[in-house]
Amino acid sequence: MLKICDICKSFNGIEVLNNVSLDIEESSILGLAGSSGSGKSTLLRCIQGLEIPDHGTINYDRKIGFMFQDFNLFPHMTVLQNLVYAPSLRATADEKKRYIDKARDMLKDLGIAGKESTYPGTLSGGQKQRVALARSLMIDPEVLLCDEPTSGLDVATIEDVVGLLRKVNGLGVTIVVASHDLEFLAQICGRIVLLRQGKILLDIDPRDNPIAIENLKNSYT
Ligand code: ADP
Ligand code: MG
Repeated sequence: MLKICDICKSFNGIEVLNNVSLDIEESSILGLAGSSGSGKSTLLRCIQGLEIPDHGTINYDRKIGFMFQDFNLFPHMTVLQNLVYAPSLRATADEKKRYIDKARDMLKDLGIAGKESTYPGTLSGGQKQRVALARSLMIDPEVLLCDEPTSGLDVATIEDVVGLLRKVNGLGVTIVVASHDLEFLAQICGRIVLLRQGKILLDIDPRDNPIAIENLKNSYT
């Protein structure tokens, strides 16, 4: 279990996370909902260790992958290089070869075989999203953090993302996904936590609470 205990984080004296505590169950999909500025990305960044909380603890004893908003692919590297770059940094020649094989398998699994030598700039949004997902899975994470994985994607591509994340979760990976898109979160999450001004306002199972989800959808977009 991933335990988040009493996290506080301020930037320039402004409190962005305010005593956030969450126990995230293994192999679950947790959605972080909330309007822009509510603290979703900051919470993901704290879980990953990209931000240090001012107060509180998060256990780090597992491998965590991060799928960034806007993909964050290296534009000067091919798709294959994007995937193998980080894992290969401290690898032996043999290991590097294995990472290349693994990257090819991963791209095939995610339906983008044949794009290995392509540069990210020439890919569609949906293809970039698949590459970003493949890259975050290269380290075999036990937890995958996804920040706004549907932003800028059309409806059909969002359905693909839903399918891909379900597939990854089916392999036992715990997923924490931040999104302002409740419709999307309600499709894949067994639990949705709503943040408002850095506090947990609501913690529900969307399947048991369709009316609460409908009300929330109307309360912010
Ligand atoms: P969300 O992802 O829900 O939109 P964020 O976690 O990105 O929210 O941001 C919450 C608040 O924290 C925003 O007001 C944002 O401007 C502020 N913030 C986030 N990161 C930083 C930073 N590195 N420096 C200063 N302010 C920040
Ligand atoms: Mg954000």
